[in-house]
Amino acid sequence: MAANWKMNKNHIEAIHFVEEFRNRVEQKAINRSDIVICPPFTALRSVQTVLDSEDLEFKLGAQNMYAEDSGAFTGEVSGPMLTKLAVTYVILGHSERRDYFQESDEMVNNKVKAAFRNGLVPICCVGETLREREEGFTNKKVEWQIVHSLEGLTDEQISGMVVAYEPIWAIGTGKTATAQDAQDTIATIRLVIRDHHPDAADKVRIQYGGSVNPGNIDELMAQPDIDGALVGGASLDPVQFARILMFE
Ligand code: PEP
Repeated sequence: MAANWKMNKNHIEAIHFVEEFRNRVEQKAINRSDIVICPPFTALRSVQTVLDSEDLEFKLGAQNMYAEDSGAFTGEVSGPMLTKLAVTYVILGHSERRDYFQESDEMVNNKVKAAFRNGLVPICCVGETLREREEGFTNKKVEWQIVHSLEGLTDEQISGMVVAYEPIWAIGTGKTATAQDAQDTIATIRLVIRDHHPDAADKVRIQYGGSVNPGNIDELMAQPDIDGALVGGASLDPVQFARILMFE
């Protein structure tokens, strides 16, 4: 269950969130889920310090990274830099990065490989636009993204990673895919993975993302192929995010 804060919260606000969230989240949620907080790069160190000093069991995630480990890549952040900060997860190929920053499947694939090289767990995002859904291309689109973004990975790597299915039209819009639509596409993703990596298909964790909130999480999590959620807007509020984690 991952919180993607996107470009929100400075490091002071991030610390306040963790202090409040820690008081709100119930032990049951901590016991049954991996809870991952993905702040902007500038708040990673502050959040890590709070998690460490208060011995909190939440995991730290980044929202992006570069595919090279070091070098002349002004403005980029590398896998080794994240690992050093005790980051364990990294969101890769989010639709906002694919769209606004022209990240191709090949770039995402290189980043996924770099994440594994550095001991990070990638959360690799895929999803279709509204037009692609309306024209009946949802399954083709996610199949293409899965095959190319995960190219060259081993069964073991795929087994240990996370895929996030995020229909682009449902991100930040208040529109959620119906639980059945999310289930159907996620089942397709698992099938595609089974075709290429039969041993990994039942182990890879697949999240749904797109306007998840306390009101729709129960139905989503009740679906057999949905293992978790990638939460944007609703994860900015510690009370809301803690409620989401208490899904039935
Ligand atoms: C996201 O950014 O990954 C996301 C799912 O956002 P939201 O929950 O706001 O739709």
